[in-house]
Amino acid sequence: MDKFAVCIAGAGVVGLAIAYKLASSRQFQGKDIVVVEREASFGQHTSSRNSEVIHAGIYYPTGSLKARLCVRGKALLYDHCLRHSIAHRQLGKFIVAAAAGVPALESLASLAFANGVTDLVWFDDPQLHEQEPALKASHALFSPSTGIIDSHEYMQSLLHLAQNRGVQFAPYTEITAVNRASVGFVVDTSIASGTRCVRYQFGCDFLVNCAGLDATALAGKIDGVDRSTIPQTHFCKGDYFSYQGASPFKHLIYPLPEANTQGLGIHATLDMAGQLRFGPDTEYIEKRNYHVDASKSAGFAAAIAAYFPAIEVTKLQPAYSGIRPKLAALGEPVADFIIEGSAENGVPGLVQLFGMESPGLTASLAIGELVAGDIV
Ligand SMILES: Cc1cc2nc3c(=O)[nH]c(=O)nc-3n(C[C@H](O)[C@H](O)[C@H](O)COP(=O)(O)OP(=O)(O)OC[C@H]3O[C@@H](n4cnc5c(N)ncnc54)[C@H](O)[C@@H]3O)c2cc1C
Repeated sequence: MDKFAVCIAGAGVVGLAIAYKLASSRQFQGKDIVVVEREASFGQHTSSRNSEVIHAGIYYPTGSLKARLCVRGKALLYDHCLRHSIAHRQLGKFIVAAAAGVPALESLASLAFANGVTDLVWFDDPQLHEQEPALKASHALFSPSTGIIDSHEYMQSLLHLAQNRGVQFAPYTEITAVNRASVGFVVDTSIASGTRCVRYQFGCDFLVNCAGLDATALAGKIDGVDRSTIPQTHFCKGDYFSYQGASPFKHLIYPLPEANTQGLGIHATLDMAGQLRFGPDTEYIEKRNYHVDASKSAGFAAAIAAYFPAIEVTKLQPAYSGIRPKLAALGEPVADFIIEGSAENGVPGLVQLFGMESPGLTASLAIGELVAGDIV
């Protein structure tokens, strides 16, 4: 039976960053590491269905994993982009409000400061409208360290860097069961080969479950994991609409976050080609489904009109959607990432990541660093 030092389950941005960081560590240099992915390629789910924003670290409870890993991850990510020529732009973003929203902006500014985001700048009229004439808002916080990234190019770079360090990538391979061995695990997989599926079994000393939306399902297939400790993953879909024509904005524009803490509000982001898009909204769903309902455009336009009154609903075109793997059910308070090692889950060699919603893309290298540190 083939034997690997580490098996990483899932080739989203988190799995790829963990692979790269592990393969770069002194202890795992030259060791056999495999990244196993059910789909034909990497990043086919949440990692390619997001806003592609490099977040500053403003919104998350101070001391939470989200806050710490976002701030650390942002610095690592900008550095990575510069060193490996990954397309990105540090555009900056405005969080905007009418006069009644000023106390909420002040609270956000305090939270950001406590999280180590110390570069926020207040904008009032008329400076705000000099910057963004199409905007309807009297006050704003400007975050200069927020940016955008080509997430596909970034993931490609992680995979190449990991492969250059000997990591093997196994697409079309779904983990179907994991049993414990005297040391480590025996992993059962099903490999899609044309119209057939081939079974393949291998051993590994360490297993990292970073299967995103399926992390809970995979945890349930791992022998020895106390089922009562596996958190439930709730699917919270977010749809995007692209906006035809030239962008009226030079920066990213965010309203105040939703009071229910499910999302950051329907915001305006630009991609690397300068295409403006609005989204994501929030909708809890039972089953995975990436369809964008065109009839939502009127609701989107109404929400966007609060900060962009000249919005033309006919220019909104259904674009794509992503699904947040949330640990909080509808109406529950926001939950932190869960990154648990064997000390928490009681299974030697097992690391599991749950609830890797936003800011998981921004935080990915810091998550990789943390997990590599946990295993090493
Ligand atoms: C709408 C939306 C907007 C977002 N915007 C941002 C943003 O602007 N900035 C930011 O920082 N973050 C953002 N995020 C969060 C970010 O996209 C995620 O945190 C990140 O992509 C999670 O990556 P992942 O690797 O954990 O999951 P995924 O990308 O879902 O990867 C998990 C992989 O595991 C594979 N898998 C599952 N089960 C198995 C199995 N049994 N065997 C083998 N493979 C398996 C899947 O096929 C998948 O490829 C957003 C998320 C959403 C949904």
